[in-house]
Amino acid sequence: KECLLEVSGLKTTFLTENGPVTVVNGVSFQVSAGETLGVVGESGCGKSVTSESILRLLNEKTTRYEGEINYKNRNLLSLTEEEMRSIRGNEISMIFQDPMTSLNPVYTIGDQIAETIMIHQKVGKKAAFAKAVEMLRLTGIPSPEKRVHEYPHELSGGMRQRVMIAIALACQPKLLVADEPTTALDVTIQTQILDLIQDLKQQLDMGVILITHDLGVVAEVCTRVVVMYLGEVVEEAGVEELFENPLHPYTQGLLQSVPQLDGDRSKKLYVIKGAVPSLTNVPKGCRFAPRCNYATDLCRQSEPELMGNRHKVRCWHADTNLQKEGELYVADGS
Ligand code: SF4
Ligand code: MG
Repeated sequence: KECLLEVSGLKTTFLTENGPVTVVNGVSFQVSAGETLGVVGESGCGKSVTSESILRLLNEKTTRYEGEINYKNRNLLSLTEEEMRSIRGNEISMIFQDPMTSLNPVYTIGDQIAETIMIHQKVGKKAAFAKAVEMLRLTGIPSPEKRVHEYPHELSGGMRQRVMIAIALACQPKLLVADEPTTALDVTIQTQILDLIQDLKQQLDMGVILITHDLGVVAEVCTRVVVMYLGEVVEEAGVEELFENPLHPYTQGLLQSVPQLDGDRSKKLYVIKGAVPSLTNVPKGCRFAPRCNYATDLCRQSEPELMGNRHKVRCWHADTNLQKEGELYVADGS
């Protein structure tokens, strides 16, 4: 499959009153058509900023980007804002966690979908409205020809997220970036929305980047996974490989903190000890060392690179962790 997007060495720095803070530090990955790449990690790991950097949604006066984000042989980081506008929503679309903040309460949903279509495609209002109805139908909203005349507050959370998906996909983007698209929804609706994204991905042959803290969601829909910690990628692998053979102690901890739906409930849920350090005070050496049970002097002195091909890991002792496979990774912490 052709590679749609190649992020290489992306570094996103916020220029704050107290000096620069690098929130994304040298992140690289690729996304192909028809692939769903999961980007996982705890809040504050830089996964949302990574997705916002791809679409350059951050305030450019206070943000510095380095590295490259190549889309169709063009580095998005070197495009003008005007060129970027023709890419957003048209070639690359984004959906967020909370549809209410992205939908305008004073316009009908039909108007809002049609508006996106008119901006990007040279069609009149009538054609755009007809397309809006068609998009709503595609997302499985019942009686779309009636729904187009409703306002956001008249819809349930799940319906609003479908509307956001309709807007995001109205111009048939090649790539969809979905940042915690189902986090605010209850479990049944969550499954429906994930199924919908998967269906549309296949129909439209899109690439999808799914940002989530939820490994259950990853297991359900992703083909490859990137695990982020404190602004860096610590592991990347195919989804089955990652779940069966996690090599980074952080990934191992994350996986052990997922409740097993069908598994033994008496087994204690594992919590990774310690808190995520502040980005303004990044630990020396391996960034995970203060929380890692395997940390050695080497780890505390020098930071490992991301190593490997199909299965990449950033850990000095990944090979020894592997040998401990089967043995539970248990920390003493809370
Ligand atoms: Fe732990 Fe060392 Fe690996 Fe970092 S490099 S994750 S501290 S074992
Ligand atoms: Mg986020």
